[in-house]
Amino acid sequence: MSVRAEFDEWATTGRDRGMEERHWHTAKHALARMPVEAGQTVLDLGTGSGYALRALRERDIGRGYGLDGAPEMVRNAQSYTDDDAIGFLRGDFDALPFGDDTVDHVFSMEAFYYARNPHSTLEEIHRVLRPGGTFYCAVNYFTESESTHEWQSRISVPMTLWSRSEYREAFREAGLVVAEQDAIPDNEVEIPPESAFPTDNWERRADMVDRYRTWGTLLTVGVAP
Ligand code: SAH
Repeated sequence: MSVRAEFDEWATTGRDRGMEERHWHTAKHALARMPVEAGQTVLDLGTGSGYALRALRERDIGRGYGLDGAPEMVRNAQSYTDDDAIGFLRGDFDALPFGDDTVDHVFSMEAFYYARNPHSTLEEIHRVLRPGGTFYCAVNYFTESESTHEWQSRISVPMTLWSRSEYREAFREAGLVVAEQDAIPDNEVEIPPESAFPTDNWERRADMVDRYRTWGTLLTVGVAP
C-alpha cells in the first residue's frame, strides 16, 4: 500500500488526533528544545494533524509549512487551524518542494522512517536548510526500543529500522553535524502494576517500562553547516 492509501485511511478514521495525543507526551519536549526565533520558517515533515506547527506558532515563528504525503491528513491539519501563517501541503520526503537555503528549522515526529530513501531525504533536508538551520528528528521506532519492531507487521508502508548510531552516521553522511542525540522518556503513559500483566497489549510489565520509560522517543538533532 502507498503512503497515501495507508495514511488517508488513518486520517479519515481519526487516528491523526489519536497520534497527536500520544506523541505530544514526548514531542512537546523535543519542540521545547528547538532554537526557534521569532519570524523564522519551520517545516514539519509528515505533519499528521499539524499540532507541532500550531505549538511553534505560540513561540512566534513567522511561517510554518506542514508537509504530508496523505491528502486527507493535509485536509484535516488545515481544518484544525485558521492561522494564516501556517499552511499544509501534500508532498513527499523524496523531493521537498522548497528552494535551497530557504528553511530555518525542520521538525519531524514519528514520520522520518517512512521515507522511501532516508539517505536522500536527509540530503533534501540539508539542501533546504539555511546554514545553521536545524533538523529535529524524533522517532519511537528504532533498534534499541525492541518492542517497537513489531510495528512493521501492522503497517503496509516499509519502515527503516535504524539504531542510535545509524541515525548519527546517516546524518553525517548527508553533511549534517550531529549536535545532540537523546532518548526522551514518555513519563505520562500509565504503566499498571505488575499484577495487571499480561494486559491486552503487553505480555510483561518490564517490556512496557522499556518501551516508554527507558527509551520513549529518540531525538537526533542535525545542524546544517
Ligand atoms: N507527525 C505526526 C504524524 C505521524 S504519522 C504525529 O506526530 O502525530 C506519519 C505521517 O507521515 C503520516 O501523516 C504520513 O502520511 C506521513 N508520511 C509518511 N511517509 C511519507 C512520505 N514519504 N512523504 C510524506 N509524508 C509521509
